[in-house]
Amino acid sequence: MNRILIIGAGGVGRVVAHKCAQVADTFGDIHLASRTLSKCETIAAEVAKRTGRTITTHQVDADNVPELVALIREVKPAMVLHIALPYQDLTIMDACLEAGVHYLDTANYEPPDTARFEYKWQWAYQDRFQQAGLTALLGSGFDPGVTSVFAAHALKHHFSEIHTLDIVDVNAGSHGLPFATNFNPEINIREITAPCRHFEDGSFVETPAMSESCDFTCPGGVGTHRIYRMYHEELESLARHIPGLSTARFWMSFSENYLKHLEVLQNVGMTSIEPIDFEGRQVVPLQFLKAVLPKPEELGPRTKGHTCIGNIMSGPDKEGKPKTLYVYNICSHEAAFAETGAQAISYTTGVPAMIGAKMLLEGRWREPGVWNLEQLDPDPFMADLNQHGLPWQEETLEQNPFA
Ligand code: NDP
Repeated sequence: MNRILIIGAGGVGRVVAHKCAQVADTFGDIHLASRTLSKCETIAAEVAKRTGRTITTHQVDADNVPELVALIREVKPAMVLHIALPYQDLTIMDACLEAGVHYLDTANYEPPDTARFEYKWQWAYQDRFQQAGLTALLGSGFDPGVTSVFAAHALKHHFSEIHTLDIVDVNAGSHGLPFATNFNPEINIREITAPCRHFEDGSFVETPAMSESCDFTCPGGVGTHRIYRMYHEELESLARHIPGLSTARFWMSFSENYLKHLEVLQNVGMTSIEPIDFEGRQVVPLQFLKAVLPKPEELGPRTKGHTCIGNIMSGPDKEGKPKTLYVYNICSHEAAFAETGAQAISYTTGVPAMIGAKMLLEGRWREPGVWNLEQLDPDPFMADLNQHGLPWQEETLEQNPFA
């Protein structure tokens, strides 16, 4: 029986708990721990109601390695699914090494005092995981995660090399609130307000945040949306692991309303991560803003519409002829909520986290070391996406819309 320990009981943690509970053959015994025990208990009660499965809950401070090690030794899981925040990546990796269990996360490490995602800290664990005979899967969400697997799938089945890769993340859903973020507000706003870095002609180029945009028409009636070029962590690992790649960009849609609110918040200093003195206390404005914004897990019942996330890739096909391929998934916010009580952003992240854990536990992805998902065989993961709620489609395009 495979016992797992999920850490983090936010919007994504909820989906991971539900999806793992649905796959009883693989996930025989599920434990859920987070900083706030009551959130774990709420999720466990919902999962019991929907699936009849029991989830055991725990309180843990994932910034504290000895506390984590004690919990892992008490629970004795085969692996830890880290679904808390990027700040805890290294403490949880340390604890997994000390307690001898496999590791998975959905977002790469970012130091709390510098808004800059980089893989260097986690890649530095390669030898230690290899020597311990343990596997660490980095970034098993949608982007990164599924987008990395889409690239590996395209390379394996369609291309001899991929030269350009554009990841397009459109959220065409609406929650009807003046301003809210679809996942952790602090992480989300840090990501969006950071300078853009994209990969061009074989090196990274930095431009001001949100300075490049265009309209993109999604398939499946999801509509035309304004998308903005921004930095996203998988660009770093894809540039390293996809042979022949010379250009890689990440694009995300934002509504005018969202951008207007963000601009005002930035202008008045509310998105700053520099602590300020407030009535004798040190307060980080962005953390205060997070406390007053709607919680991502509360958006589920209000969000309508679809997400459409995928990769547009160009390069020579297996015969050397030029080809452009679009691989994508369309996910309904309402269907995600009906199944798991969460909106589609949490759903599209939580399902791949469950599938990554399934790959590891079933021994399909069990090579010791630290891996980004594009380094692993995409086929069983792609098959499971179709089975577990994120069906994908692919079409050859006449022209690359970003050319
Ligand atoms: P939430 O803020 O909703 O949830 C985070 C959870 O982590 C909360 O339960 C929180 O506890 C818990 N937590 C935070 N700090 C600690 C700590 N020190 N110890 C224990 N628990 C802690 O975030 P989301 O669910 O929206 O996102 C989860 C992760 O998924 C993030 O890392 C995010 O970046 C990533 N993500 C990845 C995506 C992808 O496609 N790859 C897309 C979207 C998100 P508390 O409730 O007490 O604050």
